[in-house]
Amino acid sequence: MAEASRSEAKRCGAKRKDGSRCAARVMGAGEHCFAHDPRRAAARDQARRKGGANSATAARAEKLVPAVLRPVLITLLQTLQGAKAGTIEPRQATAIGSVARAIVAVYQVGTLEERLQALEAAQAAQGGSAA
Ligand SMILES: [Zn+2]
Repeated sequence: MAEASRSEAKRCGAKRKDGSRCAARVMGAGEHCFAHDPRRAAARDQARRKGGANSATAARAEKLVPAVLRPVLITLLQTLQGAKAGTIEPRQATAIGSVARAIVAVYQVGTLEERLQALEAAQAAQGGSAA
């Protein structure tokens, strides 16, 4: 934790959607905060490409949801089509929907946990003294 010894925490400065600058504290050795770290963005892009977005549905889904939830969205879209076409039983579609909701819930908890840990790490780096 060499970063923790810095007296002045760097600020992110990335541009937000509304045009203002992000004032969040920089994490680790990078130039951006946890949310704007381009190293994370690159990893996300790579994961998306690896998934092989070849259909129009997949391409659209890719833009709407995090890479990790893309298969869930695609499955839901396929389920909707199947239910509409009568190739999937309503009961089966309901079960798939329930599982999808559970997956999203787990993802949300994981995301919150990740953000909480980042905040705690930032606070520890700033505060310095024992917790
Ligand atoms: Zn930022």
